[in-house]
Formats: sequence, structure tokens, C-alpha cells
Amino acid sequence: MDTAAPPTGAVRTVFTAEHEIFRAQVRRFFEREVVPFHREWERAGIVPRELWLKAGAEGLLCPMLAEEFGGAGADFGYSAVITEEIGRCNATGVGFPLHSDIVVPYVEEFARPEKKREWLPRMAKGEIITAIAMTEPGMGSDLKAVKTHARRDGSDWIINGSKTFISNGQNCGLVIVVCKTDPGAGRKGISLICVEEGTKGFVKGRNLDKIGMHAADTSELFFDEVRVPAENLLGEENAGFSYLIRNLPQERLVIAIRAAASMEAMLQKTIEYAKDRKAFGQTVFDFQHNRFKLAELRAQATMFRVFADHCLALHMNGGLSIEMAAMAKLMGTEMQNRLLDDCLQMHGGNGYMADYEIGRAWADARVGRIYGGSSEIMKEIIARSL
Ligand SMILES: Cc1cc2nc3c(=O)[nH]c(=O)nc-3n(C[C@H](O)[C@H](O)[C@H](O)COP(=O)(O)OP(=O)(O)OC[C@H]3O[C@@H](n4cnc5c(N)ncnc54)[C@H](O)[C@@H]3O)c2cc1C
Repeated sequence: MDTAAPPTGAVRTVFTAEHEIFRAQVRRFFEREVVPFHREWERAGIVPRELWLKAGAEGLLCPMLAEEFGGAGADFGYSAVITEEIGRCNATGVGFPLHSDIVVPYVEEFARPEKKREWLPRMAKGEIITAIAMTEPGMGSDLKAVKTHARRDGSDWIINGSKTFISNGQNCGLVIVVCKTDPGAGRKGISLICVEEGTKGFVKGRNLDKIGMHAADTSELFFDEVRVPAENLLGEENAGFSYLIRNLPQERLVIAIRAAASMEAMLQKTIEYAKDRKAFGQTVFDFQHNRFKLAELRAQATMFRVFADHCLALHMNGGLSIEMAAMAKLMGTEMQNRLLDDCLQMHGGNGYMADYEIGRAWADARVGRIYGGSSEIMKEIIARSL
């Protein structure tokens, strides 16, 4: 059905009427609980934990999680709706997609049954906020080079190392730590181990000072002889790399979906601004150059929306390949960066002011080309299929 007509020429067919009812609820939640406070959270560098509890109570966390663990057992379309609404209001501090669509799925798929029963219902309620720690001070793109190490000691794992740039890093109640468990085995020596907040030797470092995404807490994490029970291992020992590779397409699709929503929202605001702002006795929109620029941007945003929806539909049917997810992330974030830059330009000096949403969105978007696998790594992945 034709729903959620965006401010582009795209006719959307990927969502059902039920998804759209859910969207209305999500939008109300964001307008009531997030938009009025986001600037304050940007200054604080973090979103309050209470927001997570409110979102959990409204069923906005972990929609895909099985009902027996407190989720809705819904399809990925519901997660996509939440991501789009975050993109629409540029609430980049709200780390729900990382939690619901990236971290919790590892726990649901690979944790021991008793740990699933202990953790998952609390994750759905927002009582446990999650993070995933891959990146280290000395490595990011080359995941197999992680140095953080875990060794067995009786029935425990003992972890040593440090991580950086970890999203939800300050707020997290549980972090999946990517560790070397067989240092000589490269990618076949990596395991995923859960560490809970409060575990002796696990220290959260600085909440890092970024150039954008100011409300998102991004942290250093330190592990000094951190002892966790063997049951905290996800899946099989030394199989962590294959789990990460399998789940990365969903992470990249989430970033692409957010880019599509951000482009549409910011373009719409820019059109409104250009029609209102006067220069040389006419509106900014009246200059042919600007009308043509906006027309070009609308064509680009429409084209990407169609592609993003195609990838979303493929993913909902279980058929999104690693290459297609990489294309979606590459094209979405590169296009978003250029489009937001053009939109900022059309705002003139106001565009450079933090009071205007466009400037903040522009700075927030820059990281899209870096995290979740950089644009260069996306090209590597795509090139492998040539
Ligand atoms: C705001 C933010 C949030 C983040 N959240 C998380 C998180 O929650 N968890 C987590 O684990 N990490 C997170 N990261 C880390 C992020 O995933 C890494 O920064 C990213 O993967 C790049 O790694 P790097 O910074 O080490 O860059 P490097 O790997 O050092 O790369 C430097 C440059 O070299 C290029 N390059 C590297 N390899 C190649 C190659 N083979 N071919 C061509 N060019 C190459 C890169 O594209 C980049 O331009 C986050 C980062 C930021 C900024």
C-alpha cells in the first residue's frame, strides 16, 4: 500500500497499515519525550536513562525480540519505523537502534538460555542498555587485529584490554566485548563476551567530546583482569568474527535508513526556509540557481529512498546481501553528507548556527561515512563482488 508519503517523489510500498499506526505512536513519543529535551541532552553529552525506561514501557525497544523475552516478535519494518522517526527529528543522541537492532539480536541468538531469561526482558524494558565494543585505540577497520584478550581460568573468562568510541558507552548496563581468545588464529580466534556494569575491573572512561552527535554518549572502556563467568560467552569460542560478519548488513541498513530519513527531513526544512528567506527583494527560492539545486536534491533523495526501501524489503524477506547493505550504507551516507552541506549553504549564516537544526544535522551526519565500517571499507566489500 502507498503509505508514509515522504517529501520526495517516492511511492512507498514497504510498510503495511499496521506499521503506519505504529509510526504515529512513535512520532508522538518523540515529539513529547525527545524533541523538547534533545538540545539539553546535547549540552549534557548524554540522554537520561529514564528515557529508555519510558521507551521500554511504550514498546519502542527491541520490537523484533521474541514475545517470550518481552519483545513484540515483530518484523524489521517496526525497527525501521523507529529509525526513520529518529532520523526525521535528528534525535541522534537516542541510541535505540544500536541497542534493539544491533546488540540485543546477538544476545537473543547466541546467549545461553539462562542468560537470555535473565537479560533480555530487562533489555526490552530499558533497564539494561547495551553496547558493543569492537574498536580499540590502535584499531578500528581491521577487526581481526583486536588486542583485547580473554583467557580461561577455571569456569571464568578473564578480560584485559581497552576499547574506544563505544556508543551507549556511559549508559550501558551490558557491553559485548570483542576479544581475542586465540591470538595466533587471526579472525578465527575472536570471541564475543558479555560484561555487565559493576563487574570488578570494568571501568568506563571519558564520555568523549565529539564534533557532532553531542547527545550520544561515546566512551572509552577499560578492562583490567575482569572476571566473568563462562556463560557470558556468546555462541562458540573463537566464532565471534563470523557472528559479526553475519549481523553487519542489518547494522549498515539501519545507518542507510537513517540517512534517507535525515535527507528528506532536512530537505523539507530547507525548502521551507528558502521560500521564506528574502534577499535582493525576492525569496531565496526564487533564484533559479537555488530552485534548481533544490530540484536536484529532491531527485537525489527520491532516488535513494527508492533504493533504501528496496534494501529494506530484501532484508525483511531475508535476502539482503553483504554487498547490497554496503552499497546502501556507502551511497546513503555519502549522499546525505553532500545533501546536508548544500542545505546548510542555502541557510547562509544561519546554517552555521547551532540553533538551526540543519547545522547540527550536518555535523551529526559526518560520522556516517566513518562508523559501522567506513566508506572505504564499504568499497572494499563491494569490490570483492566485482
Ligand atoms: C561517534 C562514533 C561512534 C562509534 N561507535 C562505535 C561502537 O559503538 N562500537 C565500536 O566498536 N566502534 C564504534 N565506533 C568506531 C568506528 O566503527 C571506527 O571509528 C571505524 O570503524 C573506523 O575505524 P578507525 O577509527 O580505527 O579508523 P582506521 O581503521 O584507522 O581508518 C583510518 C582511515 O583509513 C581508511 N582505511 C582503513 N582501512 C582501509 C582499507 N583497507 N582500504 C582503504 N582505506 C582504509 C579508513 O576508511 C579511514 O579513512 C564509533 C566511532 C564514532 C566516531
